[in-house]
Formats: sequence, C-alpha cells, structure tokens
Amino acid sequence: MRIVALAGGIGGARFLRGLKDVVSPEDEITVIGNTGDDIHLFGLKVCPDLDTVMYTLGGGIHEEQGWGRADETWSIKAEMKEYGVGPEWFGLGDRDFATHLVRSQMLTAGYSLSQVTEALCVRWQPGVRLLPMSDDRVETHVRITDADGTRAIHFQEYWVRLHAAVDAEAIIPVGADTAKPAPGVLEAIAAADVILLPPSNPVVSIGTILAVPGIRQAVSQASAPVVGLSPIIGGAPVRGMADKVLAAVGVEATADAVALNYGGRAAQRAGSDEGGAGRAAGLLDGWLVDTADQDAVAAVEAAGIRCRAVPLLMTDAEATAAMARAALELAEQVRV
Ligand code: GDP
Ligand code: CA
Repeated sequence: MRIVALAGGIGGARFLRGLKDVVSPEDEITVIGNTGDDIHLFGLKVCPDLDTVMYTLGGGIHEEQGWGRADETWSIKAEMKEYGVGPEWFGLGDRDFATHLVRSQMLTAGYSLSQVTEALCVRWQPGVRLLPMSDDRVETHVRITDADGTRAIHFQEYWVRLHAAVDAEAIIPVGADTAKPAPGVLEAIAAADVILLPPSNPVVSIGTILAVPGIRQAVSQASAPVVGLSPIIGGAPVRGMADKVLAAVGVEATADAVALNYGGRAAQRAGSDEGGAGRAAGLLDGWLVDTADQDAVAAVEAAGIRCRAVPLLMTDAEATAAMARAALELAEQVRV
C-alpha cells in the first residue's frame, strides 16, 4: 500500500511514528513536509519541520521538547552571543547546527532542497520517503499589530520569540503562489492508495503545503481516500498556537470547524461548484475527532465527511499507533 501524508513538525512527526508502527514492511510511506517554517539564520538554511520529522523518525529527536536533537549542547550559541550575534531567541544546538551546515553547503553547491533532504535522510533512515513540499523558497509571515505598529514578521519570530502572545491578523505564505511542488510530490499524491492529514497545524503546516499551486487540487482529485485527524481537542490545540492562526483565517478552533475548513470531497463529487465561486476544492472523505468532541461528529457528517470519535492524544507509542490504525480503517470505510 502506498500511503501519502502531509506533515508539519511535532504533531505530524509523532503521528508518523505511530503510522510506521502499524503498517506492513511492504507498505510505502511518502511524507510531504512543510517548508513554510524555514528560516535563514547565521547564513544557514534551517528547515524546522523537515528536521523534526527526520529526527523523530530517525531516532535523533529530543523527546520531551519535541524538536531539536537529543543530548544537545549549546557551545556555538554561547560563542555567537559573545560576539553579540543573534537571534538569541531561536534555539540551535551544536548537533543541530551540523545538519544546517550540511544542508546549506549542499544548497550553495547547487543541489535542490529535495536532493539535500534525501542526502540528510541517508544518515537518519527515517523509514519514509521525505519530500519537501517545494524546492522553492516559501516563508510564512504573520501580520501583527503591537506597540511598534502593524507589520509582518516571520512565523518563527511570531511563535518562538513572541510565543504567539499577540493576535495574528493574517497569515501570508510568502512565495507560495509562485512555488512549484517538489519533484515527486504530485506523482506521489496521484499514485497513493491512502492520503492522510495528520494532526498537524491546519493553517501554518498543512495549509501552507496546500497553498503550493497544484497540491490542493491533486489531493482533491486523487483516487485515494483522504482522511484527517483533528489537532484540536475540546476547542483548543493540544499544543502550539493553532487557535491563534485559525482565528487569523476566520476559522473557529474546534474539531468540526477545522474539518469544514478543509472541506468534504463528497459534496464536490455530487456535482455543484468544484472550486467555483472562489471556493477551494474540498479535501476530506473522513475525519477523526477526539472522544471529547463526540458532539462534533454530526456537523462533520452533515458536510458529507465520514466522522468517528476516537482517542486522539498521542500520549505514548500505543495510543499513537491506535490513532494511525483508526485513520487507516476509516480510509477503508470511505473508499469509493
Ligand atoms: P509543528 O510544526 O511543530 O507545530 O507541528 P505540526 O504542525 O505537525 O503539529 C502541531 C499540531 O499538533 C498542533 O495544532 C497540536 O494541537 C497538534 N498536536 C500535538 N500533539 C497532539 C496530540 O497528541 N493529539 C492531537 N490530536 N493533536 C496534537
Ligand atoms: Ca512547524
């Protein structure tokens, strides 16, 4: 079976680890990773979400933190500080620096981000094919207003430096409109037997991937069933700032509102206005909400999306594997 998953960082990576635990050895998993969080720091290209997936699946992640390397040390950061060189708010440890040095060296030599990611994965052996959503530069910016006025700042500055304490007024995936899907992305979606949307951030992770022209359409038109898992439980994100960025795009932070925002494919198949009237093509055949959101099931099903309530907290390997199993089961139930 060929499984394709669109993934951000922590939520995506942890889910993928559970997915790997439940598939058979002959199944192939292709991960299309978000690169809208990418940032250039100290002359280096940093790809936080790709690295979180790579380290998590490759056994190098700092487990409690959810990002960065295990057994990290911070000498380079301390030395940079002595030179007065920042930003101090972004945590790049010594081991992590090596990844960004290799990546930046290869990019400077003319390799594409896809090729670099493949090369980095030779070391990490994540057990999935990890593709960046695009080889072109895309950087998510967030419009805010504070004492310094209204301006757009890099998503990392919004999240890591400001801890999303200010309201997000708009989310702008700079460069996405002219970016091309990376080699293999559209082909993997078209050839998939199952497409999964892990409980990643629906706006700045999965939303950014879908903003690359061609990807949303490819998922919407794929022959494979598309099943997603809610990152929102009981009206709040399990971790992170999804509520803030959902508000910026006018979507309530509830399990059902997120599903309706992705849209159902059934209504579309039944005819009507596919992509018409400015409406984005619907994506979902199935949606999993947490048992705490049992009440959300009816609204999701009313939109033509098959919905089940199951435990969605990735508390340990077993709970996460059960989520992956439930997603694959729902995919079989909605297969047309
Ligand atoms: P990021 O790039 O590191 O922010 O990671 P993702 O975009 O892949 O995932 C972030 C989302 O994962 C957040 O919206 C969280 O609510 C969600 N998330 C984290 N842990 C869990 C969990 O245990 N269960 C569910 N359902 N969602 C989770
Ligand atoms: Ca991210």
